[in-house]
Amino acid sequence: MRDYKRFLKEKAYINGEWVLESNGATFEVRNPFDNSKIAEVPDLGREETKEAISAAQVALEDWKNETAEYRAKLLKKLFNLQLEFADELAYILTLEQGKPLTEALGEIKYGASFIEWFSEEARRTYGETIPTNAKNRRILTIKQPVGVVAAITPWNFPNAMITRKIAPALAAGCTVVVKPAESTPLSALAIGILAEMAGIPKGVINIITTNRPIEVGQELTSNPIIKKISFTGSTHVGKILMKQCANSVKKVSMELGGNAPFIVFDDADINTAVEGVIASKFRNSGQTCVCTNRIFVHDSIYDEFTYKLSKEVTKMKVGNGVEKDTVIGPLINESAVNFLSDLVEDASTKGAEVIVGGSLDKEKGNFFPPTILGNVNEEMDVFNKEIFGSIAPLIRFSKEEEVIAMANNTPYGLASYFFSKDYARIWRVSEALDYGMVGVNTGKISTTVAPFGGVKESGIGREGSKYGIEEYLEIKYICVGGL
Ligand code: ADP
Repeated sequence: MRDYKRFLKEKAYINGEWVLESNGATFEVRNPFDNSKIAEVPDLGREETKEAISAAQVALEDWKNETAEYRAKLLKKLFNLQLEFADELAYILTLEQGKPLTEALGEIKYGASFIEWFSEEARRTYGETIPTNAKNRRILTIKQPVGVVAAITPWNFPNAMITRKIAPALAAGCTVVVKPAESTPLSALAIGILAEMAGIPKGVINIITTNRPIEVGQELTSNPIIKKISFTGSTHVGKILMKQCANSVKKVSMELGGNAPFIVFDDADINTAVEGVIASKFRNSGQTCVCTNRIFVHDSIYDEFTYKLSKEVTKMKVGNGVEKDTVIGPLINESAVNFLSDLVEDASTKGAEVIVGGSLDKEKGNFFPPTILGNVNEEMDVFNKEIFGSIAPLIRFSKEEEVIAMANNTPYGLASYFFSKDYARIWRVSEALDYGMVGVNTGKISTTVAPFGGVKESGIGREGSKYGIEEYLEIKYICVGGL
């Protein structure tokens, strides 16, 4: 391992300076593997947030007036640096978040792919000319950056959830104030170091570390300089932020919770469906918003599927993310472990069968074993709540219409998956699922080139793809008269 400490910063980043809180207030960042302290970062509040917003406002003037080519070149540098130091960044990510190193490295590359993609998209924010409605005038549109953007990000992807927001924002000509999650500020600060190395001008990216998300969130959502909030996190907090943004009518992008169905039809290839569950359920110990939450299995293949899935899940090694053969790392904190235990208990008392795992080993840190629950039904919490952990609930079904109704029976609408070899069913079910994303015969759907986002209470807007940059642009209509 090269010297990862070079990227482990214990100061926040405002206007190109590395700063502390004015009274020296800090909070600790802990390793979820054993709860040991990794670092202490500044616990910034409203005043520093205002300073960061002002710095972003000043930086905006030059940044938005630069050519797209200039911004693209700096983003490309940032992309190259993120890859050059991927090992160091991945190590810090695993230390503060817990995911296995191979997954952390995967995230750093995935995170970098957004920077590369939007460095390319920067030059394609075309306006248009519109056939006129009157002989003496001409009608056209241009696209302009929305202005200063606030990005509030979660702990489950401490790097990629930031790059997925700041790369399109910067490409569009916006400047940003980032507020990372309190459990994982170090990966965010490391991006600040890379930005500095890339020569991104001061004030264009500002990073507020804080253990006071409500106070900082209030400033970000009420300050009139901020024109847009891009949030990834829980539906609960997303609703609060939307309400707070209403007073100053800010644009919002919301990437919120999910309750992904995973349907295995009787004509599915069972082995690939098992692989699909492993990929979509257990990645990041089940802590992603697109993780499978409910696995519907056709009655006629239920026993075979359960047997094969159990065989794979039993093999998964739980442990410290920095150890080579770890597949399942710790959960983010103890309350996540307690939440999963409660889900298992609730399901068991309502008639579910614990097929694999279920109970936790109190000796270790924030661990929860990979678990399979059988005979789950709609009455159980595990059916209705976002699990965000390594529990795979199995639900039997026999008819297509019945399973689609159950799959759609949730306020969420982010990711969904199904496995089938029947091409007519593939179209039918893809169209019938009320979700922003559908994986057909695959459990892996996230990629820079496709629009990521949800419907219903899972959010507003899309990230990645050609649509991602639109979230940071306004369309201006220009009417040239008197011709
Ligand atoms: P999770 O349940 O996954 O931790 P949260 O929605 O609580 O998700 O957190 C996602 C992000 O939102 C984090 O950066 C957190 O600090 C932030 N956050 C939580 N509550 C608020 C709030 N009231 N205002 C602004 N940000 C908040």
